[in-house]
Amino acid sequence: MALITKAIKGTKDVLPAEVYKNQYIEAVCRGVAERFGYKEIRTPVFEHTELFQRGVGDTTDVVQKEMYTFDDKGGRSITLRPEGTAGAARSFLENGLSNEALPQKVYYFTSCYRYEKPQAGRLREFHQFGIECFGATSPLADAEMISLAKQVFDELGVEDLHLELNSIGCPECRAKYQDALREYFGAHKDELCTTCQERLERNPMRLLDCKSPEDKALAEGAPAVLDYLCEDCSDHFEKVKSYLDAMGIEYRINPRIVRGLDYYTKTVFEFVADSIGAQGTVCGGGRYDGLIEELGGQHTPSLGFGMGLERLQLVMEAQNCEFPEAVKPDLFIVALGEKAQKQAVEIAREMRGEGFTVLYDLNERSLRAQMKYADKMNAAFNVVIGDNEVENKSAQLKNMQSGETCDISLTTFMNDFYRISMDEQLKDLEINGEAFDFGSLFGSGLSEEE
Ligand code: ATP
Ligand code: MG
Repeated sequence: MALITKAIKGTKDVLPAEVYKNQYIEAVCRGVAERFGYKEIRTPVFEHTELFQRGVGDTTDVVQKEMYTFDDKGGRSITLRPEGTAGAARSFLENGLSNEALPQKVYYFTSCYRYEKPQAGRLREFHQFGIECFGATSPLADAEMISLAKQVFDELGVEDLHLELNSIGCPECRAKYQDALREYFGAHKDELCTTCQERLERNPMRLLDCKSPEDKALAEGAPAVLDYLCEDCSDHFEKVKSYLDAMGIEYRINPRIVRGLDYYTKTVFEFVADSIGAQGTVCGGGRYDGLIEELGGQHTPSLGFGMGLERLQLVMEAQNCEFPEAVKPDLFIVALGEKAQKQAVEIAREMRGEGFTVLYDLNERSLRAQMKYADKMNAAFNVVIGDNEVENKSAQLKNMQSGETCDISLTTFMNDFYRISMDEQLKDLEINGEAFDFGSLFGSGLSEEE
């Protein structure tokens, strides 16, 4: 039978055999975020289109070219989120988090949707780990946010990433800078791509972020924003750098980074990998002091980042980082006949309740077929239960790694299993490179007391 349809271009299935990598990365991100005092927020996958037009900015590539926007059956314009910040900011305002103690620190895992040309590291559905810190003015917050991302990379063992840092100032210093850019690019107007010719008047800083090769080349010679910072922004930037220095976090100043979203002010940064080709930015973020006001709230200086999880995984794979293996099942029960089957389901029920991973065949197949299936399931131990075993209330437990077997009682199965599997684990325990002699713990101590 032919497959009725294929997955949408630019989307990716994560199959059961691979998902442990995603789960591992997510667990590390979550753990780090929580240790920095962040709490998870979950917001809808779609929002009113105007949220992104206002929040992301309607001169950005994301809004102008990349959004999945459609009218729903009620005639409302809806957009699948292209990024996480706008939704989190809307929720922060709508749910009154803005009235709670500030800063409010949230993190999220989101799927994001952008209509882009699919290629390595660029998908139409991709995933981000993101954080937002609403209501924090000090450069301490900028440095802490960057150190959070760095901590994630360190814990995952990612090495080949460098931090690029810039400040794009505030609306005040930016006005002068925009003028300088208009003048510079204006002299080359005919050479610009059509989108940028239109953006030149309204938002010339966008031109620095354009992907077209001609515009990119022109941008190389453009005036640098750092020469235009006002005293306040300049002071803020100096302090961010000095806190990063104090934390031992290395960075390169890159005056070309402006980020793809309109809401950024002051600090912007990217963590860039050299090992995965052109789509090397794994994490990007910065401060967005104007966003909350733009969405109708009080002035609330804030900041955050988005980390592309597919790109992060690409970097880790390119670097041969270790992904802890998916946990193996503890036990596979091969059961033959109805009585044995009932014994098996009861043992499995009890053990699963206590945290063991226990499997048995769901097709009631022959011994041979079950053994074959059990092999594929790769459990640490197997046990075969048939009529004889039920009668004798005893079976043979087999350690699938060593091949050793031992008798195990069916009446006290779980306790016996626990003891036997613990013994196995202790056997493997090494201390200072030597097998640990468990007996030494008790032996002498006990005899002295006697
Ligand atoms: P790029 O310059 O690569 O287009 P961007 O500036 O559009 O990135 P952001 O909007 O800052 O990216 O998103 C944050 C992160 O999300 C990026 O650094 C990247 O890791 C990831 N990301 C963005 N777009 C995609 C995509 N289409 N596919 C996969 N990951 C993506
Ligand atoms: Mg992009």
